Amino acid sequence: MYQQADTAVIGAGIVGLATAYHLALKGRKVVVFERNPAPLGASFRNFGLVWTLGQKPGNIYERALYGRATWQQIARESGLPVEENGSMLLAYHADEAGVLEEFAATTGIRCEVLTPEAARQKSSAFRPGDCRPHCGARWR
Ligand SMILES: Cc1cc2nc3c(=O)[nH]c(=O)nc-3n(C[C@H](O)[C@H](O)[C@H](O)COP(=O)(O)OP(=O)(O)OC[C@H]3O[C@@H](n4cnc5c(N)ncnc54)[C@H](O)[C@@H]3O)c2cc1C
Repeated sequence: MYQQADTAVIGAGIVGLATAYHLALKGRKVVVFERNPAPLGASFRNFGLVWTLGQKPGNIYERALYGRATWQQIARESGLPVEENGSMLLAYHADEAGVLEEFAATTGIRCEVLTPEAARQKSSAFRPGDCRPHCGARWR
C-alpha cells in the first residue's frame, strides 16, 4: 500500500473499486479503505448480471456499454469467469410483443425479434407455449 496517495477511496464495493481503478489508470496513487476484512456489501451479494439493455438509449446506455467492456477486459486480465449469454425478454401478450417490436425498430440497440421457435433454439430453458405471439432477444 502507498504510504502517500493522491486519493483515498472509502469502500471496496464496485463503485469504490471502479473509481480507484480509473484513477490508477490515469496515474494517480490511490488507496482504498474498506471497513471489513473483505467486501460484504451489495457488490458481494449481487447476482452478477451486467445487463445493459435496461438502460435508456443515449449517454447512459453508452456508459453501460463502457462498463460492460471494462468488466470483459478485467475478466480477461484476471481470469475471472464471465459468461456472455446475451439476454432474452419474453412477451406473453400481444401488447408486450408490440413494445418489444417498437423497441427493436426504434432504439438503435442491437437486438432482434424472434419467433417462439427461434427463441427455443437459442435457449432450451424456453418453452414456446409460454410466449405469444413473439419474444424479443438481444444478443451481444
Ligand atoms: C441482492 C442484490 C442483487 C443485485 N444484483 C445486481 C446485478 O445482478 N447486477 C447489477 O448491476 N447490480 C445488482 N445489484 C445492485 C449492485 O450490487 C449495487 O448497486 C452495487 O453493488 C453498489 O455498489 P457500491 O460500491 O455502491 O456499494 P457496496 O457494494 O455496498 O460497497 C460499499 C462498501 O463500502 C464499505 N464501507 C461502507 N462504509 C464504510 C466506511 N465508513 N469505511 C470503510 N468502508 C466502508 C462497505 O463495507 C462495502 O464494502 C444487486 C443488489 C443486491 C442487494
